[in-house]
Amino acid sequence: VAVTANGAAAIDLPRGERRDALAARRFDALIVGGGITGCGVALDLVARGLDVALVERGDYGGATSSASSRLIHGGLRYLEHHEFGFVREALAERSRLLALAPSLVTREPFYFPLRRGGRVSPPMLAAGLTLYGLLSLPRALGWPRLTPLSRLAAAVPGLDTSRFAATGYYHDAATHDAKLTFAVAAAAARRGAIVLPRVEALAIERDGSGATARLRDILRGDEFEASAKLVVLAGGPFADALRIRCGLAGGLLATTRGTHVVLRPERLRLAASLIFDSPLDGRVMFLLRWGGHVAIGTTDVDADPAVPVVATRQEVSYLLASANALLPGLELGDDDVLTACAGLRPLLRTGAGAGRNAPSARSREEAILEDGPFLTIAGGKLTGYRAIAEKVGSRVAKRLGKGSSAVASPTRDIALAAPEIAPSDDLDAIVDHAVRRLDVTSPGDLLVRRSDRGLLPHDAALALGHRVAERIADRLGVPAAARAAIHAAWEMERAERESWRT
Ligand SMILES: Cc1cc2nc3c(=O)[nH]c(=O)nc-3n(C[C@H](O)[C@H](O)[C@H](O)COP(=O)(O)OP(=O)(O)OC[C@H]3O[C@@H](n4cnc5c(N)ncnc54)[C@H](O)[C@@H]3O)c2cc1C
Repeated sequence: VAVTANGAAAIDLPRGERRDALAARRFDALIVGGGITGCGVALDLVARGLDVALVERGDYGGATSSASSRLIHGGLRYLEHHEFGFVREALAERSRLLALAPSLVTREPFYFPLRRGGRVSPPMLAAGLTLYGLLSLPRALGWPRLTPLSRLAAAVPGLDTSRFAATGYYHDAATHDAKLTFAVAAAAARRGAIVLPRVEALAIERDGSGATARLRDILRGDEFEASAKLVVLAGGPFADALRIRCGLAGGLLATTRGTHVVLRPERLRLAASLIFDSPLDGRVMFLLRWGGHVAIGTTDVDADPAVPVVATRQEVSYLLASANALLPGLELGDDDVLTACAGLRPLLRTGAGAGRNAPSARSREEAILEDGPFLTIAGGKLTGYRAIAEKVGSRVAKRLGKGSSAVASPTRDIALAAPEIAPSDDLDAIVDHAVRRLDVTSPGDLLVRRSDRGLLPHDAALALGHRVAERIADRLGVPAAARAAIHAAWEMERAERESWRT
C-alpha cells in the first residue's frame, strides 16, 4: 500500500493537502470524472506505477454511477440484439468482481416470468437462458433454465401465476453502485493517486508536452491549475460537454434517461429479483431487491444531458402501472414510493445498434478516442468498468513509455472493500468517522452514496440530512455564515427526488 510522507493513505489526507499536491507537480495522467469509469482508470493507472490525479465536480459516483440498476450482469436482454462478445466480456467481469469484492458484489437470483401470449415464448427464453449460461463458462453461476411456476409463486407472495406460461430462473450479481465507485476511488488513493471531489474542470488546454487544466474548487469557490502529460476524459453522459471544454468536437453520445422508484419496504418483499416484459409496452424491466427494499426500473427515453436529470411524473406512473399489471393485487400508488431517482445512460451515437429506433436497443459498448494528450472514454457500463480501465491503462502506459503496459492489469487481483460506516448508534460518531475516512463533505455523500441510510420518507430524510449537515460543518470547521451551502445541497438533492410529485 503506497502511503504519503506522513503515513496517511491519500484519501485520508485533508482536502487542502490534496489540493496542494494537485497543483504542485506535473502528473503522468489527470482523470476528469469520478464516476465508476474515471475511478476505475485511476486505480488501473496507479496500480501500473503511474503518477495519477483525479478530479470530480460532484461526489464520487454522484451522477450516473449512483443511478443505475445496481446490476453486475452480462445483460440477458442484449442477447436479443446478438451482442455476444459484449455479454461474454461482461459475464467474465461479473465473476471477477464477485471474487474481488465480496462485500460489494453478491450473487442475485432472478425469475423471468412470461405472460401467456407475450412477446417472448418459452422456447425462445429457454434458448436465451442456455446461451447466457454458455457465455458465462467456465464460471457459470448455477445453470439458467426454465423452472416450475410454483417456485416463482413462493418467491413473490401473492403472485397469481396462472397468468404466466412459464418462468426462467438464473443468477446474476447485484451491487451498490456508488459504494462500489467509492471503493475503487479509495483503492486508487491508497496506492497514491490524488483524488479530489468537488473540483470542476473548467477548461483544459494543450501545453508543450501535455495539457494544463483550469480547475474550480467548488467548496472554496476559487480556481487553480493542474497539469499532466495525458488527460483522461471520463465524463460519462457529459463526455461531449467535457470534450468541448478541451477544444475537441462533441457529438459522440445519444444519452437516454433511466428512472427507478424505490418502494416503502412494507409494500413488497421478494425472495428474488424479477426481470419481465412490461405488460404495457413489452419493454424489458426489473423488480429488484434493493437492500431491504424493492426498486422498479427502468425507463429508457432520449434525454439532453444539459438539462438536470430528474424522474418525471410520466415515468413514475409508467413504472407503477407496469408493476401493477404484473402483480394486479398489489395496487401500488404514489404514496408507496419512497424515492424516485433518474440517471443518464452514456450511449454511443454511432456503432452497433445506433440505427435501432428504440433507445433501449442501442448498444452499451464503449469507445476510446485519442486526440493528442486527450483520451476520451465514451459509453460503457458499470459492469465493464474494470475491463475498460484495463484497455485505457495499457494504452496510457504504452504512450508514456512508463509503468506496466501489459494487457493484463494488476486490477485483476486487487480486492475491493465496501466503505465502512462507524459501528455505532451515535449519529455524531458516524458522521465524524465518515468525514475523516470516507471523504464526506455533504449529507448525500453519507446518506445516499456511502450508505442507504437516507432511504426514508421525505420529511424524515430531510430532517436527518440537516442534522448530518451541521455535524459535517462542525468537523470541517465551516464558519456559521457558510453553512447554508451544505444544507442547501441536501435540500436540492431531496427536491430532485421529489419533483415528480408536483
Ligand atoms: C437507469 C440506469 C440503469 C443502469 N443500470 C446498469 C446496471 O444495472 N448495470 C450496469 O452495468 N450498468 C448500468 N447502467 C450504466 C452505468 O450506470 C453507467 O454506464 C456508468 O455508471 C457510467 O459511469 P461513468 O463514470 O462513465 O459516468 P458517471 O458516473 O456519470 O461519471 C461521470 C462523472 O464526470 C463528472 N464530470 C463531468 N464533467 C466534469 C467536469 N467538467 N469536471 C469534473 N467532473 C466532471 C460528473 O460529475 C460525473 O460524476 C445504468 C445506467 C442508467 C442510467
